[in-house]
Amino acid sequence: MDADVLVVGTGLAGAAAARALAEAGWRVRTLDKGRGPGGRLSTRRKQAGGFDHGAATLQANTPAFAGWLAEEVAAGRAAPWGEAYVGLPGMSALVAGLLDGLDVHWSVAVAALQFEAGQWRAVDAEGRVVGAAPAFLLAVPAPQALALLRASALADDVVPPRMLDALAGIRYMPCWAALLETEPSAIRRLPDPGHGDVLGAIYREAEKPGRSNTGHWVLHATPAWSEANLELDAGTAAQHLLDAFIAMTGIGPEAIREISAHRWRYARPLDVLDPLPLEGHDLVLAGDAFGAPVSADLPPAERAWLSGRAAAGRLIAARQPKS
Ligand SMILES: Cc1cc2nc3c(=O)[nH]c(=O)nc-3n(C[C@H](O)[C@H](O)[C@H](O)COP(=O)(O)OP(=O)(O)OC[C@H]3O[C@@H](n4cnc5c(N)ncnc54)[C@H](O)[C@@H]3O)c2cc1C
Repeated sequence: MDADVLVVGTGLAGAAAARALAEAGWRVRTLDKGRGPGGRLSTRRKQAGGFDHGAATLQANTPAFAGWLAEEVAAGRAAPWGEAYVGLPGMSALVAGLLDGLDVHWSVAVAALQFEAGQWRAVDAEGRVVGAAPAFLLAVPAPQALALLRASALADDVVPPRMLDALAGIRYMPCWAALLETEPSAIRRLPDPGHGDVLGAIYREAEKPGRSNTGHWVLHATPAWSEANLELDAGTAAQHLLDAFIAMTGIGPEAIREISAHRWRYARPLDVLDPLPLEGHDLVLAGDAFGAPVSADLPPAERAWLSGRAAAGRLIAARQPKS
């Protein structure tokens, strides 16, 4: 299919942008290196249920985001949980819903971009062109956007050096997350991570609506521990998080069924660029580090969604006939 716009990165930001562009009549092609929808809202599926090992919940502060979440609740893809929302059956359902019916390509890692004769091309590590369109929307974490733009060696008038400098200034907080399966009845009460050095948050999946396996846990390490131990191998990181969980709960080793860990190198941004840093040659960036026309003081997932919508709006506005 010929595309009007190429969207690279379909987490919440890219998926929201892709949906808005498709609703405006654009032919959208999306590429993502992941194996399925979610990005940092991903859900790891297991036979006995899933693990939301990225963001565990979403908070809504703006009427626009709250309105979208209400629609998702009506569509059966989300449920309120206290003052927050969760996806159903997992967080990734929210991203999957946005991408439903679009031209979506998974397991495609874009290694470089080219811009020639008004056409953007995305190229993979083998040099194959994996997508082409006159407009381009890049919705990956800022350090990954910077690496991709640098690897692409685009002309200064396409990607101005000030834009690369701005991206280089965005820092992220990492997070080690562990996916733990215990015997379902091994722990009766949800433990409180308190003020420990290792565990910052503990989620029992079955506490959330639409999940039933009481033996599924997601453990998030504190930002400080994650930062200090970022380069551990996943097995060692998982063992540290499990040790902290065992110390807290007193659960016996016989009740542990499985544990694995995921390193989120870019979990949440510490800096936000506002407004969106680049327009020109129909290239726009989106993601949780990019401002939308609202204050930067928002939960990152909400900002990602808003920035995706805003980025789509900018592309659409750039195509309107000038009067
Ligand atoms: C452990 C954890 C807990 C969190 N808790 C909360 C919370 O409570 N509240 C909250 O608001 N936010 C929370 N967040 C942050 C929230 O998840 C993110 O802000 C949001 O999901 C970001 O969406 P995004 O689309 O900007 O980025 P992402 O979801 O990271 O999407 C980027 C996509 O780009 C793809 N990609 C990257 N590089 C390439 C490439 N070269 N080629 C192709 N595809 C590529 C990736 O596969 C990914 O799917 C949390 C995050 C983590 C990790």
